[in-house]
Amino acid sequence: MHGIPAAKEIVEAALASAEKEGRTVKSIEVEMGPDSRLDAEELELCFDVASQDTALEDIKLKITLKPGLVECLDCGKSEEKTMVDRIPICPACYSPNLKINGIGIVIKDIELK
Ligand SMILES: [Zn+2]
Repeated sequence: MHGIPAAKEIVEAALASAEKEGRTVKSIEVEMGPDSRLDAEELELCFDVASQDTALEDIKLKITLKPGLVECLDCGKSEEKTMVDRIPICPACYSPNLKINGIGIVIKDIELK
């Protein structure tokens, strides 16, 4: 699954921050945009897999979607999107030549308890 490496990074970052403070993780907030090439459900699913058998097993991700502008470099069509396909193509001219202006996955907050 494509989102697993991203989910593992979130798990590792959260565990490291909890360990540093000698506390446990209460919640994790992430923002995701079109450059993640994932939708929120896919990220949640991958997070569930990546957090299995860790202290984060029962934690749910709080995901905020951040749209970004996806521009076609061939026909100039641009669209605000929160996610794009893994291999994105322009809906108007089917060109794969797209510029994606937006974030991937950013960890906003790791709340400890
Ligand atoms: Zn186009």
